[in-house]
Amino acid sequence: MLILKKKFLDKIIAQARKEFPNEACGILAGKDGKVEKVYEMSNTDTSPSTFFMEAKEQLKVMKEIRNSGIQMIGIYHSHVASRAYPSAHDVELAFYPEVSYAIISLEDKKNPVIKAFKIQEENIREEEVRIQ
Ligand SMILES: [Zn+2]
Repeated sequence: MLILKKKFLDKIIAQARKEFPNEACGILAGKDGKVEKVYEMSNTDTSPSTFFMEAKEQLKVMKEIRNSGIQMIGIYHSHVASRAYPSAHDVELAFYPEVSYAIISLEDKKNPVIKAFKIQEENIREEEVRIQ
């Protein structure tokens, strides 16, 4: 399960809208499935259909997370015109079997949808997202 405060969800949605028409991405840090910090990341693909986090930025954030005594518990990105479900490309680049992959769909721009998945060896399993 991924537990997300409403203010974090609002922040992610705002970022997704700001980056539109390209995909937005970022890292969720926290503990036991509960998000305590959201890191907005640069999408080096600047693409409407894929994302790739800037490597140096990602290393810096991962170090900061470790130093704060929390963990990287999720990676999120937006889908600008498709549903909130991992694409074949997303599955291929899902390098962390233990983290939640959250996808924010702007397919219906007025009603963004967030869903989260565990991706393990190309197996996609949806998780509950609890907004608090
Ligand atoms: Zn995707």
